[in-house]
Amino acid sequence: MQRRDFVKAAALGSSAGLLLSSCASGDSGAPAVQTGGPALRWRLVSSYSRGLDTIYGAAEVMAERVGNLTSGRFRIQVYPAGELVPAFEVLESVQKGTAQIGHTASYYYIGKNPALAFDTTVPFGLTARQFNSWAYHGGGIALLRALFADYNIINFPGGNTGVQMGGWFNREVNAVSDLRGLSMRIPGMGGRVMDRLGVTVQQIPGGEIYPALERGAIDAAEWVGPYDDEKLGFAQVARYYYYPGWWEPGANLSFYINRNAWEALPTHYQHALEAAAAEANQYMLSRYDAVNPASFRRLVEGGTEVRAFPRDMLDAAYASAQELLKEGTSDPEYARIYDSYAAWGRDSSAWFGTSEQTFADYLHGH
Ligand code: CA
Repeated sequence: MQRRDFVKAAALGSSAGLLLSSCASGDSGAPAVQTGGPALRWRLVSSYSRGLDTIYGAAEVMAERVGNLTSGRFRIQVYPAGELVPAFEVLESVQKGTAQIGHTASYYYIGKNPALAFDTTVPFGLTARQFNSWAYHGGGIALLRALFADYNIINFPGGNTGVQMGGWFNREVNAVSDLRGLSMRIPGMGGRVMDRLGVTVQQIPGGEIYPALERGAIDAAEWVGPYDDEKLGFAQVARYYYYPGWWEPGANLSFYINRNAWEALPTHYQHALEAAAAEANQYMLSRYDAVNPASFRRLVEGGTEVRAFPRDMLDAAYASAQELLKEGTSDPEYARIYDSYAAWGRDSSAWFGTSEQTFADYLHGH
């Protein structure tokens, strides 16, 4: 095709105002890249504090990539928790369109619908790799999208913590009975299980955990893992660091996009958002995996006492979690998601138990 014919054909096939940069610059054979489109500025509200370069940083990674993919025409400004809206009001804010996009954990909103927990994590649920395989290849995203339609939201996976730690305790837990009367910051279905085991459960945003532990308003708190926990200073106000975080084997963070705002976007802006969210999803987990080991070492060297949860507590929590998760299945939408999620976990655990787990166990022994 002659260059002028190609330009003419491309111009006819595109809407007015689009620039066709690669052919205009004369790169023969290069595909036409759309660099035009409306100048847009969106607000992104995060549930996290700016200092957390892992969990908050993933939203900035996403926003920057969207800007780069649209030649700076589609810009997203990221606001930390509390600046435009409180940490736990991200869903409402995106639903109403106060912000076009949000970055949060859906299990903060299980008071609205318990099925939202499956978008983040549930006790003894999927690991990060299992969640991503379910979301991208096991129909997970489609099932969750149907749920989020009730809130006028399109959701995308947007980061994962991997298996979390069990958190910081000012009292030893040597048996499940030691949980009785303990006051602990723990969100989601994990909080509901802890409640059944006798814990007084508190919902507190990340930035407010330290003062609550320091003044003794709570006896225990969990956040994520060594890197974030070290930054938040928990080692200075709690003595014991327990593992594993059985309530969060792979917490998935989500980007929420207001459906009306999404539908008004040019297709290539939608593609940019989708690609940037996938990059943020990869960024967060690899970042945690990169920075947790050194923090863990420093915490241990600094005198933190690392303890495993007692077996009877794990067994009681497991039984209680299975019971709790099944209770929701009287709702058909919950049941659809639960059935798919649980079946995925059973199938993939049989495989991971053989491959990843036996290898990791052997290597850890050295
Ligand atoms: Ca957590």
